[in-house]
Amino acid sequence: MLFLAHFLFRPSESALPLLPSLQVVPSILRWWGGAAVLALGALLAGRVYCSVLCPLGTFQEAVWRAGGRRLSGYAPGSRARYWTLALVLAAGAAGVSAVPALLDPYAAFGRGVTQLLRPPMAGGIDSLAGFLESRGLYGIISRAGRIPFVPGLFWGTAAFFLVLTLWSLRKGRPFCDALCPVGTFLGLFSRSSLLSVRFSGENCTGCGLCGTVCPQRCISVKERKVDADRCVLCLRCVDACPGGELALSFAPPGESLSRRGLLRTAAGFTAALGLTLWSAKKDGTVPAGASSWDEKLPLSPPGSKSRGNFTKKCVACTACVTVCPAGILRPSLGEWGPEGLFQPVLDYGRGYCQYGCTACGDACPTGAIESLEPGEKQLVSIGKARFLRRNCIVRKYGTACGACSEHCPTQAMRMVPFRGNLTIPELDPSICLGCGACEYACPAEPKAVTVSGLTVHGKIRPLSGGGEGPTVAPLEEFPF
Ligand code: SF4
Ligand code: SF4
Repeated sequence: MLFLAHFLFRPSESALPLLPSLQVVPSILRWWGGAAVLALGALLAGRVYCSVLCPLGTFQEAVWRAGGRRLSGYAPGSRARYWTLALVLAAGAAGVSAVPALLDPYAAFGRGVTQLLRPPMAGGIDSLAGFLESRGLYGIISRAGRIPFVPGLFWGTAAFFLVLTLWSLRKGRPFCDALCPVGTFLGLFSRSSLLSVRFSGENCTGCGLCGTVCPQRCISVKERKVDADRCVLCLRCVDACPGGELALSFAPPGESLSRRGLLRTAAGFTAALGLTLWSAKKDGTVPAGASSWDEKLPLSPPGSKSRGNFTKKCVACTACVTVCPAGILRPSLGEWGPEGLFQPVLDYGRGYCQYGCTACGDACPTGAIESLEPGEKQLVSIGKARFLRRNCIVRKYGTACGACSEHCPTQAMRMVPFRGNLTIPELDPSICLGCGACEYACPAEPKAVTVSGLTVHGKIRPLSGGGEGPTVAPLEEFPF
């Protein structure tokens, strides 16, 4: 429910400070040591993450329980999950983020909420706010704000959740058992977990009740064993067993410290650590360089540091898209290349990046967008404006304007004398943030000022007057 609230209602930073950062893929992406900590956690307490923290696992279990269907007992684990894990690790190491983004359960759940639940909810809230305002009642409820509709993402997400819902109704937690790379990764260690569910003695009558309530179908009554690499410690079997045979207990020393188990765990641990170290060593940046004006390069949000860092770490969970108050973040459709499908991109056709805002960095759990203080953010240059004098209406029609300068927070676009009483904009690139306020405000058609992204973000020269930009007009007041 907390994750649902997180993606639905744009909670403040203080409401959910840690939960998204406790997710497996985001914590590995944010900090290379995350894999080692998670592996140790699984060695101690198995796949407890799957039942306590994973929102997609909880979704499947809720669907299955709502359907009320009992399962048929033990089924051997699928081999496909190892191939999925190998594919995700290889793709992540090669920088093809679309594969981990597609299969990470946290990101998949986030897309489900933002694409399928948030639009009707926001529509309802906005209609109610509109109705109240039409009756002169302002400020009772705030508008929810729309997030961009991207058909490919919407239909892909809808299909994924339809299949998952039908599958879960019949099989419990099928994604966790057959596909999830996170569960498989944790399972490499939970095989040798200290704490796990075990058959404790001679009280089993073989009734099989435990098998019918186990959403992972990992209890073999015949062999009196629970597959510890698949068990998610939901403890439904412990509750269901009439004789109290199944219990959560510490492993006897001989069992958890068996030579084979230790070797297997050590091999998994070394592979995971090696991969994360290798991936951490690559800084993920692409060579620095000014934007080429021949093509308009895509813009990544402030705090993402570079195109390489952003596309390597983003899992396309769309949390940042939901929180952006300007509504300028939208899932991309090829701007970052096919490997970065649905990773967000800034769209200045819809607004501009607000001077004091740091919301996207505060919401991002993976470090794809780092959290910045407003003062830091106000010095980060994410793109560069280009002024096309021939398109400017001052020059073209001899009319006064200055919308770009009026809304530029750093005065990188400032008005200088032109003809007679007229003034015309002039650009100072050394203090241009690339925030897009000028592009959005410019009334000329085609635009006289456009902003292109930087492959590596820069820093502007500190502004005189302590870096305080002029007060920027509210979004709804412009352009004109
Ligand atoms: S910093 Fe810019 S891109 Fe990020 S949420 Fe704020 S307005 Fe949107
Ligand atoms: S950049 Fe946005 S979409 Fe990507 S991981 Fe961060 S919050 Fe999620």
